Amino acid sequence: MIAVLFGVPGVGKGTIAAMLNKKYGIPHISSGNLLRELVQKGIAGEDLKSIIDKGYLVQDLLVYKIVGDRLKEKECEKGFILDGFPRTVAQAEFLDDFVKQKSTNITKVINFKASEKTVIKRLGGRRMCSKCDAIYHLQNIKPKKAGICDKCGGELIQREDDKPEVIKNRIEVYKKQTAPVIDFYEKKRLLADIDTEKPIEEIFEDTCRAIDG
Ligand code: ATP
Ligand code: MG
Repeated sequence: MIAVLFGVPGVGKGTIAAMLNKKYGIPHISSGNLLRELVQKGIAGEDLKSIIDKGYLVQDLLVYKIVGDRLKEKECEKGFILDGFPRTVAQAEFLDDFVKQKSTNITKVINFKASEKTVIKRLGGRRMCSKCDAIYHLQNIKPKKAGICDKCGGELIQREDDKPEVIKNRIEVYKKQTAPVIDFYEKKRLLADIDTEKPIEEIFEDTCRAIDG
């Protein structure tokens, strides 16, 4: 199974991806997490950190390398859940070539929907574990102990790109560079719209139904 989770930043892709990973037992591949890891490990330079922190898209070639290498790992042979990739039509074409080469198909592209007001609230309150990337929210998904990850005890931090000035830019970048990908998958009849203005459990159920359907 290959599921692509799509939607504006803050719509909840990472949260649902972690739940799908548990249910289906296939890897959750977040391009954002992979890129941040490059920065944390000191493999990539200041320029990559600066692009991410300002909310712009990282160049396609680097993304192909990072995501492509991950998808070639043995663990991904049974399938995978993509979160944050593809984010441009060129990236969607890259993924198409990749799955063709593997003689497989994308199962479904989940198009998560929410109002701009909702995603701004979700991003503003989001906290992320600095160790294991688990996602929390100050109001909606509280950790048992404030500031500490339930899963690994790591420190919860606010991402630089979750600050209000950057959130605005990320939404603009989404509209200009990422939204055209919807048309690409609509034409291939792979798209399932999921309303995310409801409790997480219901969003998860709707997503599973769309994937299994
Ligand atoms: P959310 O996690 O709420 O969906 P998001 O999708 O904006 O928000 P990430 O997916 O973690 O967050 O991405 C963070 C940043 O990493 C992006 O703003 C961009 O700079 C970079 N990035 C991630 N994926 C890609 C990609 N496929 N192409 C180019 N840049 C990317
Ligand atoms: Mg994410």
